[in-house]
Amino acid sequence: MDTEASSLTPQPPFRSRALATEAVHAGRDDLASLGLHAAPIDLSTTYPSYDSRGEAARIDAFATTGARPDGPPVYARLDNPTTARFETALARLEGAGSAVAFASGMAALTAVLLARASSGLRHVVAVRPLYGCSDHLLGAGLLGTEVTWTDPAGIAEAIRPDTGLVMVETPANPTLAEIDIRAVAHSCGSVPLLVDNTFATPVLQRPLEHGARIVLHSATKYLGGHGDVMGGVVACDEEFAAVLRQVRFATGGVLHPMAGYLLLRGLSTLPVRVRAASAAAAELARRLAADPRIARVHYPETGGAMVSFEVFGDPHRIIAGVRLITPAVSLGSVDTLIQHPASISHRIVGEGDRRAAGVGDRLLRMSVGLEDVEDLWADLCQALSAGSAVPPARSEAAVRTSPLTGSQVPSPAGRAPGQEPRSTGR
Ligand SMILES: *Cc1c(COP(=O)(O)O)cnc(C)c1O
Repeated sequence: MDTEASSLTPQPPFRSRALATEAVHAGRDDLASLGLHAAPIDLSTTYPSYDSRGEAARIDAFATTGARPDGPPVYARLDNPTTARFETALARLEGAGSAVAFASGMAALTAVLLARASSGLRHVVAVRPLYGCSDHLLGAGLLGTEVTWTDPAGIAEAIRPDTGLVMVETPANPTLAEIDIRAVAHSCGSVPLLVDNTFATPVLQRPLEHGARIVLHSATKYLGGHGDVMGGVVACDEEFAAVLRQVRFATGGVLHPMAGYLLLRGLSTLPVRVRAASAAAAELARRLAADPRIARVHYPETGGAMVSFEVFGDPHRIIAGVRLITPAVSLGSVDTLIQHPASISHRIVGEGDRRAAGVGDRLLRMSVGLEDVEDLWADLCQALSAGSAVPPARSEAAVRTSPLTGSQVPSPAGRAPGQEPRSTGR
């Protein structure tokens, strides 16, 4: 990632086609010439060759350059043509030179950290909040990295000679706090800035255009978009992508080709899904902000389909009370999901750090899907009424915690339909 080598780095493709066009065509430009319409799925784990000398040369070339091999991959851990279509398409959407896909968002972050540590740069500067497991991976130092937590204004001061990465999420999981990418990129100097762009997606924000060097996605979320595929991807310049491919080959966090196919298919509807769900989320955020049962609403200026809100009532009863909305962790699916970050997505972060990052016990995070907004509002309202009207004597019995999973088990007797929401000040 040094500047002297940047002349070797292919320039990001000129954005000659609009995002909506790239979403359905990038990574598929050769299909018509192959006589195909849908992308082919290559499930091979190995690739026959009668020329072992030629294979040796190709393996040497990969070990030296990290470039995708010409011709068939030697072995599926090295490269896969179906996954490569998804990588090409995502790189085009982010305006990046390259992209490298992994088995999950966490596998992608792991590869980035290992790639930087392998050049002796083990120190990371990061801004909270991050997704709970990203926070944990950095904080626990599982990969031999060391983290300094700071706020955006403290980044320049936190950078050391061995700093290999600055990491932010914007809008952040789960508070939707936003960071000025351009200002932060300036503070990073020559240290690459990684932006986790999972929440905004390239439809709403392309961090590389604002000075970030690395974009990370949990592809499990909006890129896949249907809650049925797990993956991660890093968009960056080809020079860093080459290192990431070598790390992926050595550590094995590859995306399955079937997942590569599903992610490519997911990208084709990404712009329409994100825009439609964002419009519904903005409307729900407006209604929540005017609702006396809600203490505070978080909705980012960037927009998007995530809404977080703090309730006056019992957040566990609201989770137990939804009927149309699915009470589940994760996000970015076609259906609406709600979860309690302090119990689930950010449970692994120590309580003090969690609270300091703004993840309080009354915060709920909702991923708005593609349902009709009036149906969503009706479900939210009835769940909020159940959560607000807490009959004092029954509030303990109404929601029991399962000793095995810690999950909330609603008791039918605990629901109090028809009771008026407790009227509270704001
Ligand atoms: C879910 C998530 C991750 C982790 O991705 P997985 O695909 O679950 O490994 C990373 N960052 C953000 C912002 C996420 O929401």
